[in-house]
Amino acid sequence: MTFRHRHLLGIEPLHPEEITTILDLAEKYVDLNRQPMKHARVLEGLTQINMFFEASTRTQASFEIAGKRLGADVMNMAMQASSIKKGETLIDTALTLNAMHPDLIVMRHPNSGAVNLLAEKVNAAVLNAGDGKHEHPTQALLDALTIRREKGRLHRLTVAICGDIAHSRVARSNLILLGKMENRVRLVGPPTLMPSKIEDFGVEVFDDMRAGLEGADVVMMLRLQKERMDGGFIPSEREYYHRFGLDAEKLSFAKDDAIVMHPGPMNRGVEIDGVIADDINRSVIQEQVEMGVAVRMAAMDLLARNLRDVARRDGVMV
Ligand code: ASP
Repeated sequence: MTFRHRHLLGIEPLHPEEITTILDLAEKYVDLNRQPMKHARVLEGLTQINMFFEASTRTQASFEIAGKRLGADVMNMAMQASSIKKGETLIDTALTLNAMHPDLIVMRHPNSGAVNLLAEKVNAAVLNAGDGKHEHPTQALLDALTIRREKGRLHRLTVAICGDIAHSRVARSNLILLGKMENRVRLVGPPTLMPSKIEDFGVEVFDDMRAGLEGADVVMMLRLQKERMDGGFIPSEREYYHRFGLDAEKLSFAKDDAIVMHPGPMNRGVEIDGVIADDINRSVIQEQVEMGVAVRMAAMDLLARNLRDVARRDGVMV
């Protein structure tokens, strides 16, 4: 087993074997989570702080459940009511928290790079729960676990990531991970929602859903990130759905056994037809949520092992 990082800030620094290590351990937690008694004690005695500066439903709940199942003392900071609103800088908040000796800090922030900055200032292991348009590593890992379980492998697959690529940290982390594991990644969306020079990442770019989905094993849909748009990127939601919304007709161009994914929250009738989202033969959206808890348990378990190794080396462990 290899995973030698202090933090989980992105997919970019991970080696393929480290990705496999996380996914293999997560499989064990999938089994545990399906038992009536779901407790493991690997984070017992450790303090986990969740700091979400952006709205979150599934990611925050998932990290909280993951920490509690592993025995950590979990604290959710109410960021809306925090000192940040009173003008405190992120660094001062970080130093204040650091003085309370947390072991794991999970942070989501609207600014790309904010999580890396936090990691430089605190002693805790930091997990990125999404920073701006940059990375959302646990989302890409849970997507990878879902794909590996559904397809029996995580290499030589054709994966079409569709929609608002430009504003999506989910797309970014996924295309890095899928590329590292030697898959063929296609990005499908209107040119206005495609980052410039994205081909440099070794992906193929399409602005037509039928061509982009042709022969795909996996179809990953993305939400239109309106909160990150500062102008007119699409003519109208109706027009967008017509051209890029996933419906049965467009999905028919993918392989017959292609799976449909969405990180949530989903806008039915904008990027995806509700009937497809609910089709248990094609959609794995609920499985993605289940895998999320297991992957976060695995990531926190591995980071805690490394924290313990450091403490032992420094002679501070009792
Ligand atoms: N939940 C994902 C994220 O935080 C995707 C989304 O919001 O559309 O990036």
